Amino acid sequence: MRIARTINALRELREGLPSGFEVGLVPTMGALHAGHIALLEAARNECDTVVASIFVNPAQFGPGEDYDAYPRDETDDIRTAEEEGVDFLFIPTVEEMYPKGFQTWVEVEGLTQGLEGAARPGHFRGVATACLKLFNIVRPRRAYFGQKDAQQAAVVEQLVRDLDLGIEIRILPTIRDEDGLALSSRNVLLSPEERAAAAALPRGLLAGQEAHEHGKDPVATAREILSSEPVLELEYVETARFDGRFHLLAAARAGRVRLIDNVLLEGDP
Ligand code: AMP
Repeated sequence: MRIARTINALRELREGLPSGFEVGLVPTMGALHAGHIALLEAARNECDTVVASIFVNPAQFGPGEDYDAYPRDETDDIRTAEEEGVDFLFIPTVEEMYPKGFQTWVEVEGLTQGLEGAARPGHFRGVATACLKLFNIVRPRRAYFGQKDAQQAAVVEQLVRDLDLGIEIRILPTIRDEDGLALSSRNVLLSPEERAAAAALPRGLLAGQEAHEHGKDPVATAREILSSEPVLELEYVETARFDGRFHLLAAARAGRVRLIDNVLLEGDP
């Protein structure tokens, strides 16, 4: 595995590949867990060369969010990436990605209005800009994203469509802990009490999914369960359509940690 810390170094590695090689890109913010590993494995299976990036992107954190507290473990991440067969690991600094004088931003409009876009103004502008930069540097055939961040995946698909990037966006199922909690780098920040309470998030969403199957209101069902967990502070439960598929999505806080999750709903909500 080769590690590139500059854009030029990564470009050189990329240019050294035989033409026609299919490159798979897995963008991450590091503190790699089994959710990230599932994306790396898919890329390994489907592509000739796997490029992963580790970049805690300051542009997607709002003021007062957890940019400084976000878990970072480069040594462990390098080991994991190597074990998972990553060919090139890109670990740029903030200055490398946003040098002095940087002033071009990518704004995906309609899709970013509600849910995470409403709760985190500027978040998707940061996501879309970093992704477009990575796409331009790596020129992947495919890029891999998790269903856990369903709105983000939809925003990236829209970006690729609107700007004719010709990249296949692969969206892979959410990997969960035994009690259903979606794996997330932020989960290590939960206290034992908060970690136990966090399981109400997938429980509420699954109950909503089941209610929907029986013709009942998924949002009301999920909200009832989520509101009855005193350690969780519910931000939203909503349905939304991404890529023609209906989702039930929720965000909640457990202390300092903000959690998001979603499940798919059959048919029309
Ligand atoms: P992050 O490092 O949290 O920015 O995530 C990097 C990529 O991994 C994103 O496409 C996420 O949607 C995806 N991801 C994060 N957690 C999970 C999970 N539990 N299951 C599947 N994919 C995930």
